[in-house]
Amino acid sequence: MTESNFSGKICPNCGRMNPSTATICDCRYDFETGVVLTVQTTWKPTTAGILDIFAGILYIFWSYISWSYYASCEPSYIERMKALLVLMHILLAVIGGLAVVVGGYALKRKKWRVTLIGSICVVLGSLGILVKSSITSMGLLPAFALPGILFIPAIILTALSKNEFE
Ligand SMILES: [Zn+2]
Repeated sequence: MTESNFSGKICPNCGRMNPSTATICDCRYDFETGVVLTVQTTWKPTTAGILDIFAGILYIFWSYISWSYYASCEPSYIERMKALLVLMHILLAVIGGLAVVVGGYALKRKKWRVTLIGSICVVLGSLGILVKSSITSMGLLPAFALPGILFIPAIILTALSKNEFE
């Protein structure tokens, strides 16, 4: 009777097969102490989430403001800029919605990759608004891109706290 063919051990916590040399299972069960290790949570994803959501709310608010502001402009100006104004309005609302969604993920520490990629999209969208509105001299609109700045620390904090995400 020999056990030489059996070179692994089964985790009592999740039932996964681990190499016999493993000290910690993927589920964070520690074979030495028999305790499931908890992930240490830090302020980083929470702060990132708050920045994301704050910027997102600003964007949604800007989307509303930009519409009311341009509605008060001269009809000839609105007529000339119509397509661009509608595009900016929609873009601000979409960026705002995305920012709130990724902020929610950061707060819940879920979907790290989605949070990171979504945050990068928000920054790129902000840059797009900034560049486009500067080229076409659209009055207030460059300022609407500013909440994107909040996303730079948020991206760094999200990137640093990968191990806290599920
Ligand atoms: Zn396990």
